Amino acid sequence: MTGKRCTAVLLAAGSGSRMKSSVPKQFMMLNGKPLIWYALQAVEQSGIIDDCILVAGEEDISYMRRNIVEKYGFRKAGIIVAGGKERCFSVANALKAAADQLHRPGQEGYIFIHDGARPFLTEEILGRTYEAVRKYHACVAAVPVKDTIKVADENGFAAATPDRNLLWSIQTPQVFDAKLIFGAYGKLTEAWESLQEKGIAVTDDAGVAELFTDTKVKLVMGAYENIKVTTPEDIPIAESLLRNRSGKIE
Ligand code: C5P
Repeated sequence: MTGKRCTAVLLAAGSGSRMKSSVPKQFMMLNGKPLIWYALQAVEQSGIIDDCILVAGEEDISYMRRNIVEKYGFRKAGIIVAGGKERCFSVANALKAAADQLHRPGQEGYIFIHDGARPFLTEEILGRTYEAVRKYHACVAAVPVKDTIKVADENGFAAATPDRNLLWSIQTPQVFDAKLIFGAYGKLTEAWESLQEKGIAVTDDAGVAELFTDTKVKLVMGAYENIKVTTPEDIPIAESLLRNRSGKIE
């Protein structure tokens, strides 16, 4: 327990269409455990996180409760909410539940938003982001890119080569003062249609904070192994990484 309430939001309401699997991605077995088990286990064992809101597809909520939360005895994941059509709507639903049920107005606290499809969440990453959010109010786990990145033009030709030293690949957790992120997502909901009209995409929570607050988001070292399991070729990589670290989190 920390002084201020730390709530994890674990997202597992994606359709997983890029995985091309009949089983929803979050329930696919990886080294004998469902994919979502790994992030839940990191949260359950964390000395930083107090409670957890799990976001599942509406039709998967009872399966998630019975076959994951109850079966494996996850005690912090007391609230399961239905996700939305886009990731940001899933986050918005979880933040509403956090504001209604866990974080009273005026009470200070932190929200750790994490993709359930990233099984390599560690206490070290949680610790680094926790230190940063206390100091900067908003931060994201990220790693400096190793490849050269190019901006393409609409015909697929290289249009620009940004300075690699300034480029980071963004991961989760993305961690915020609760009041700040509740406010930012409130504004996102109001502005959604006009953002759509302008073609502004919202792909992460830091982007929401950047659009609707004056707080600068600190980039914090995540880990190169903190991958998101997204497409079929990620599975053998994740399984091999899991085999290397088995024993550490179980
Ligand atoms: O689609 P993407 O790879 O960005 O998804 C990242 C995470 O967000 C995944 O854990 C996925 O389950 C979750 N998600 C969600 N609701 C959506 C879309 C994605 O909870 N509508």
